[in-house]
Amino acid sequence: MTFTVPQARKLLTELPGPKSVALQERRERSVSRGAGTLANIYMDHGSGAILVDVDGNQLIDLGCGIGVTTIGHAHPEVAAAAAAQAGKLTHTLFTVTPYENYVRVAEKLAEITPGDFEKHSILVNTGAEAVENAVKIARKFTGRRAIVALDHAFHGRTNLTMAMTYRPWPERAGMGPFPGEIYSVPISYPYRDGLSGEEAAEKTIDYINTHIGASEVAAFFVEPIQGDGGIIIPAPGYFKRLSEFCTENGIVFVADEIQAGLARTGVWFSIEHHGVVPDLITTAKGIAGGFPLAAVTGRAEIMDAVQPGGIGGTFGGNPVSTAAALAVFDIIERDGLLEQAQRVEKALWARIGDWADRFDIVGDVRGKGAMFGVELVKPGTKTPNPEALAFVLKYVTTHGVIALDAGSWDSVLRIMPSVVISEELINDAASVIEDAFEALAAASA
Ligand SMILES: *Cc1c(COP(=O)(O)O)cnc(C)c1O
Repeated sequence: MTFTVPQARKLLTELPGPKSVALQERRERSVSRGAGTLANIYMDHGSGAILVDVDGNQLIDLGCGIGVTTIGHAHPEVAAAAAAQAGKLTHTLFTVTPYENYVRVAEKLAEITPGDFEKHSILVNTGAEAVENAVKIARKFTGRRAIVALDHAFHGRTNLTMAMTYRPWPERAGMGPFPGEIYSVPISYPYRDGLSGEEAAEKTIDYINTHIGASEVAAFFVEPIQGDGGIIIPAPGYFKRLSEFCTENGIVFVADEIQAGLARTGVWFSIEHHGVVPDLITTAKGIAGGFPLAAVTGRAEIMDAVQPGGIGGTFGGNPVSTAAALAVFDIIERDGLLEQAQRVEKALWARIGDWADRFDIVGDVRGKGAMFGVELVKPGTKTPNPEALAFVLKYVTTHGVIALDAGSWDSVLRIMPSVVISEELINDAASVIEDAFEALAAASA
């Protein structure tokens, strides 16, 4: 593709620059403090893997607004598809009078999701809304109440999905009460538990059997690669055993692919790395190039268990968002973006794969495709090092690289660039992060 901004980091001012500082002052007088910000650098436009701020600085984006702009910023074909649709029809409400884009997105999701069976979808606006709907659908289908999620999971910020989200701070603290019948169960975390997938699965299953009872469980939600939890990739065999357990016990197995799905990890859906076919899949973030759209897709008999009118919403599957999503699907296929994500993975392994050997604050480097985590620890231990992450994030953002935090202990540097990022940008961004590690070592010496 052609980029409207040169794919290079370029700093004209200190970061944040004067215009960002002025905007920040206005923001503090008008925006809730609850909408906390990673870096107070105000963005103006973007292209590919580069964001341009209001002062004209060009920053390398290793975050994609948390995995949303997987195909690159402001993709011209997505912009054209959305603009054309906006000039034609912006709303009818699908459940009042339907339109074709909605049906086409559902057809495409049935085609690209794993599983050789009839699949139906519902389209909604946000990831949390998709998870909430998957909960409703699974409860209605099974007639059961309990919902199981994994330790370190992130499923959203609505009341129900806050309860399914693992850590209390900052997502939940002080904002309860939360709904009942939601359970967190142990995950497989190879760096920290040293267990095989089968051993970890037995631990998870034993927990369910002894704390909840398998026959009570409506749905088991997993992120096949955890995003906010710190790019935790369970050991091989873990999800295979869990999905068998779900099948044996009539539990709906739900893969939350909101962050890791849709080309980001080199396959359409990250559950494919584990060789498992889920009953339901939730999608959002990367699905429409930045437009709000989300979906629940899965076995027709499960999706159709809900009475007409039992799921839906005013803006769900909006004509403009679905037009953008259809363009995104075309771009992923035509431009080979699964392969592009695999290329990014190779380049990242080659460039940062030895960080745990080279830097004593790096405990582990892990990832698939364009989704990596670098777990920071106190030197010589596996103790999480959130202070180091705070230092590194501050350093890189002020040097023109946007990366993300993650992990229950706020100690995992999350790297999720667009899959179209060049090797030059990967190298440049990696050098800035290495400079940050060295500056930290110098500061603590
Ligand atoms: C971001 C995210 C959500 C919530 O999506 P929103 O659109 O922010 O509501 C749910 N699950 C996962 C895995 C996510 O990464």
